[in-house]
Amino acid sequence: MGSQAAWRLAARGAEVVGYDRFAPGHDRSAAGGETRIFRSAHFEESRWVPLLKHADVLWEELQRETGRELRRLTGCLLMGPTEHRQMATVLESIAEHGLDHEVLDVDALAKRFPQYRLEEGEAAVLDRRAGFIRPELSVQTAARRAEELGARIRRYTEVKEIVPVGSGVEVRTDSCSERFDAVVVTVGPWVNDLLPDLPWEVEVRRLVSAWYTPTTEAWFGEERPAFIRTAPHHFYGLPSPDGVSVKIGLNRTLHRLIDGPDRLERTVQPEELEIFTELLGRFLPDLHPDPTRLSVYMEGYTESDRPLVGPLPGAGNENVILLAGFSGHGFKLSPAFGDIAADLALDGDSAQPIDFITTVGRITA
Ligand SMILES: Cc1cc2nc3c(=O)[nH]c(=O)nc-3n(C[C@H](O)[C@H](O)[C@H](O)COP(=O)(O)OP(=O)(O)OC[C@H]3O[C@@H](n4cnc5c(N)ncnc54)[C@H](O)[C@@H]3O)c2cc1C
Repeated sequence: MGSQAAWRLAARGAEVVGYDRFAPGHDRSAAGGETRIFRSAHFEESRWVPLLKHADVLWEELQRETGRELRRLTGCLLMGPTEHRQMATVLESIAEHGLDHEVLDVDALAKRFPQYRLEEGEAAVLDRRAGFIRPELSVQTAARRAEELGARIRRYTEVKEIVPVGSGVEVRTDSCSERFDAVVVTVGPWVNDLLPDLPWEVEVRRLVSAWYTPTTEAWFGEERPAFIRTAPHHFYGLPSPDGVSVKIGLNRTLHRLIDGPDRLERTVQPEELEIFTELLGRFLPDLHPDPTRLSVYMEGYTESDRPLVGPLPGAGNENVILLAGFSGHGFKLSPAFGDIAADLALDGDSAQPIDFITTVGRITA
């Protein structure tokens, strides 16, 4: 979110300074692990589709401006019981917004994508304007593009305090204090540390990603869609861009809560893998059940899964724009939210349809 906001602000001619406690593209927080799913259909709420469309346009623009392949549209399969609520929502969002898709029943899926198993009463929807994004490259590319447009990024510089002063805002680090017209706060799971008085809860969860090697060629055929399964547990996977392995991840309810981002346990215990092994055995039997790589990340979650976006509440805080709590869904939307942050910081409002998500300053704390 930070690198995208820097890009969008710099692109509009704003004078931008960015801070990162590490350096753009690091794997210490929410954005590591080589792939993130992009999709154009939404299975939680079809109201997200216009924001996905806006993000889609900006992903293309960033690729065009920089000549880097940040995203590859390989498609994404949503699989699960036809009666599952998310299956209905995805079909609703497809119909409402005329999205490019195919519906595959058990036989059609087995023929075309034999690496996946559907059970009786299940189906798959192939979202065609979907695929994977390269997160590390994308963060670095957006940050670099912002720098080319004049932004300065202070690497390995932790922000200690953000203080509204008069009509501006002061950013304090251990070594300096700088004053700005507005500040966009995109600290991911560190939000409670930097803004301890935030009136909304952002839970920090620990996410395990596991990589498995295929035992058949089917995984790396001509079509290599990402996938999301809705039931019996919500989980997802992506064939790795290097054609070597398949990354599997779980959903919110299967991620442990942690006390804070500085207490992240990076070692994965064998018992944490049991659920992965169970899901692989039942739905992805052509993956070798021993993982070849395990990595741990973290992310901030709100109760509703909707992010906190907007100026902080309270007199004097209108120039402190918060983007937090993306609840496992933020990467695909990051250029759109970077653009919205630029709208809010420069114009005080955004024409993007964000009223249905938690627009922070409009809520009475
Ligand atoms: C394993 C995993 C899989 C995911 N899969 C998907 C997916 O497939 N599709 C999708 O759309 N989304 C996905 N997400 C969600 C997405 O990656 C996140 O929503 C997104 O990265 C959140 O961005 P952010 O900028 O809010 O936080 P982060 O990416 O965590 O970035 C926060 C930044 O703030 C910096 N920072 C923190 N505190 C300070 C400070 N005090 N001073 C200076 N800098 C500071 C950190 O160094 C970091 O660079 C996934 C997340 C995880 C963890």
